[in-house]
Amino acid sequence: MSDLDLLQLRGVSKHFGSFTAVDEVSLTVRAGARHAIIGPNGAGKSTLFGLISGTLTTSTGTITLDGRDVTRLPVHRRVGLGTAATFQHSSLFMRETVLENVLLAALLRTGAGAGAGTGLGGWRKVSAQAEALARARTLLERVGLPDRHDLAAAALSHGERRQLEVAVALATEPRLLLMDEPAAGMSPAETQRLTELIAALPDEVTVLLVEHDLDMVFELADTVTVMHLGRHLTTGTPDQVRASAEVQQAYLGTTTEVSS
Ligand code: ADP
Ligand code: MG
Repeated sequence: MSDLDLLQLRGVSKHFGSFTAVDEVSLTVRAGARHAIIGPNGAGKSTLFGLISGTLTTSTGTITLDGRDVTRLPVHRRVGLGTAATFQHSSLFMRETVLENVLLAALLRTGAGAGAGTGLGGWRKVSAQAEALARARTLLERVGLPDRHDLAAAALSHGERRQLEVAVALATEPRLLLMDEPAAGMSPAETQRLTELIAALPDEVTVLLVEHDLDMVFELADTVTVMHLGRHLTTGTPDQVRASAEVQQAYLGTTTEVSS
């Protein structure tokens, strides 16, 4: 593998009983990439996402992050190594405020959270907390929720919750940001705003995105992987993927659109 490869999957499979949801997938994600995974419903995208984030255990194959084998590591260890994820179904604390949701994640990063047990004492702890608060405010500004700090997460619109999830994920200062269908259920305006937000992330944050909205994928991604029936069908530039007869076939043969 090259120094530029952040994430590498080799022969990764996931079996649910006798059913194979992910079938021998090998895939490399370059550092700094805006990499999208697309494919018809049931292609195995979310399952693969779970294997990479660590919410699901891999049946066979290996996953390495920066050359380190993370295949058997639980979610929190992968977060510690710089992975953050937003999920298809929200993982926010609904009764906590918008600011608290981001602050909790930022505190986990600095180790200054109550009961974090890091032994940070006195002024160092206070200054770490102040830093986490400043970072949480900056992130809420960046995702477009500057005037929502004190609302409960439950009071946000669907699109605003997705924006908040991005802020929570970024608060851990990830090197690898994983997003499963971030635009699901969003209005076109909300999708556009999210697209701009992802596009504006610094190069230090590598983005791996599972997305159904192909307009968003083709606007954002520099690399696109197509999955079909649990398998890795092809990986290429957006133009290559759009032009691929195999990809057209995979979509037309099952459900949805590869438009234009
Ligand atoms: P996608 O995200 O591409 O729509 P999924 O990864 O969610 O696809 O699902 C791939 C296949 O695996 C589907 O046929 C789905 O029914 C099956 N599947 C997903 N999760 C489970 C599970 N926990 N148990 C059994 N089958 C599952
Ligand atoms: Mg899915």
